[in-house]
Amino acid sequence: MPKSPQSHLDPRQPLVVDTTKLPRQPGATRALKRVIPAPQDLGLELISVPEGSDVELDLTLTSVSEGVYVSGNVRGSLTGECGRCLNEISESFDVKIAELFAYEDSTTEETTDEDEVGRMQGDLLDLEPALRDAVVLTLPTNPLCRPDCPGLCPECGVHFDDLPADHSHEDVDPRWAALRNLTNTEE
Ligand SMILES: [Zn+2]
Ligand SMILES: [Zn+2]
Repeated sequence: MPKSPQSHLDPRQPLVVDTTKLPRQPGATRALKRVIPAPQDLGLELISVPEGSDVELDLTLTSVSEGVYVSGNVRGSLTGECGRCLNEISESFDVKIAELFAYEDSTTEETTDEDEVGRMQGDLLDLEPALRDAVVLTLPTNPLCRPDCPGLCPECGVHFDDLPADHSHEDVDPRWAALRNLTNTEE
């Protein structure tokens, strides 16, 4: 009886890999190159991979005694918002994946937790959790449009780039200062 309560994987899903053609002989390899549409919610709140955008998988599947080892690179694009000035950020990512998927009923499957080591379901494996981990771990929690983004003036909301270097709300015109003093004394 299968002890995995997970529903069976659908080989038509773009991130489900069918390893039927990979000989189950330790050392056997097979290249996995494909471009897939990015799944929903791949990323963080402020920066993520746009859903449906191209994600390029450039991976190698290697048979090991206990399963299939998937390694290589994943590339794609990111869009987000600068945490300081809210300007749009658009950049690319290139992350490494290195993940073991244990065969059903292998010792590895029996001696590890599912969140430590991936699981094969028959000849299928699901790359999505590994892809999510790899992408999310490389994303900054506070993305910036550039490392030295000065952000927005907290008083007027204008980007400091668009303001003169001596921009300040401290130096009040002397006449206004006089008015302010007047209102203060009235209270
Ligand atoms: Zn910025
Ligand atoms: Zn200002």
